[in-house]
Amino acid sequence: MLDRLPISIRPVSFSERGKKLSGVFEISVLDRLSDILQDTSGIVEIDVSFEKEGSVPTVQGNIKTNLKLECQVCLSQFELLIDRDFKLGFVTSLEQADRLTNDCEPFIMEDENVSLVELIEDEVLLALPDIPKHDYECVKRNDEDITIVDEEQQLRSDNPFSVLAKLKNTGD
Ligand SMILES: [Zn+2]
Repeated sequence: MLDRLPISIRPVSFSERGKKLSGVFEISVLDRLSDILQDTSGIVEIDVSFEKEGSVPTVQGNIKTNLKLECQVCLSQFELLIDRDFKLGFVTSLEQADRLTNDCEPFIMEDENVSLVELIEDEVLLALPDIPKHDYECVKRNDEDITIVDEEQQLRSDNPFSVLAKLKNTGD
C-alpha cells in the first residue's frame, strides 16, 4: 500500500537524512492541471529520493500518471500516459543554479518549506505536449474538412496550452 505524501517538504533536512518518499496524490488536488483535464479522476504516483550534491539539496525520481485530455484535433477525450524521470537541485540564487550539473534542473527555493504538490504539478505540466492529441491521425484531412480545420485554428488562438508553452519557456 502506498503512503500518503506530505503536502510540503523541507529539502535541506530531507536531503541531509537521505529521505525517500513514495506515494500518490489524487489528480484533483493539482488545481492548474485539473483546469485543462476533461476528467480529474485518477492518481499521480510519485517515487523520489532526496540527496545532496555538494552543498545543494537535490530530489530525483519518477512520476507516473494517466491524464484524460481533450484531443486538440478531434476534440474527443483521450488518455495520455505520463512517465517522467526528473532531478531538481534546490538553489537559493542564480549563481548556484549555474553551477548545477547538466542533468539537474534548478528549483529556486524561497523558503525552507516547499510545496510538494506544486513541485509535482510543475513536473506533470512540463511533461505535457504543446498540443495534446491522439498519436494517430484521428481526423482525415481533405478538402471537405475545411470547417473542422477552421474550428481548430480558432481553438488554438484561445488555447489553454499557450500557458504551458510560456511555463516551458521560462523554465529553460
Ligand atoms: Zn483526436
